[in-house]
Amino acid sequence: MTNSTFEWAELGDIKRGRPNLGSYADIHVYRLMQFSIKNMLIKNFGRIKADEIFYEAGLEAGRVFYERFIEKKDNLTELLKDLELKLIRLKVGILRIEEVDIENSKFIVTIEEDLDCSGLPVSDDVICSFDEGFIAGIFSEHTGSEFQAKEVDCWCSGARVCRFVINEKS
Ligand SMILES: [Zn+2]
Repeated sequence: MTNSTFEWAELGDIKRGRPNLGSYADIHVYRLMQFSIKNMLIKNFGRIKADEIFYEAGLEAGRVFYERFIEKKDNLTELLKDLELKLIRLKVGILRIEEVDIENSKFIVTIEEDLDCSGLPVSDDVICSFDEGFIAGIFSEHTGSEFQAKEVDCWCSGARVCRFVINEKS
């Protein structure tokens, strides 16, 4: 179980609140909110701390997402298949599994057309710290162990896909 203090109800009753507009909004608005929050965190706390906060927020979101959306929890293969479906259905991104090493608890996944960085200008950075946390949160919640995720390729680094290495914290 998650230690999160987050309550799903905090997000409100969308059906009731947006009977005409529904549950989807333009991705630019999502990015505008995310990037403006990130810019303010960087301005106030510096880049490293801002990334840490985004990672930790992602970690909590991943745990909550697992509880809320993942139905197939019997084993990791089923989980990953279910996760792939849910991420497409919710228009989060296209997940592909590149490497599964159960013995060493190491995994590599990619996400194409992701919410946060696809289409951004190329820079020296990998920027998806929220997504790193999000993926680590899902793996941690599923296994009951602490997992970490590191983005090694990003749209912004020119890869046109985000690639994450996931492993159990030693
Ligand atoms: Zn990325």
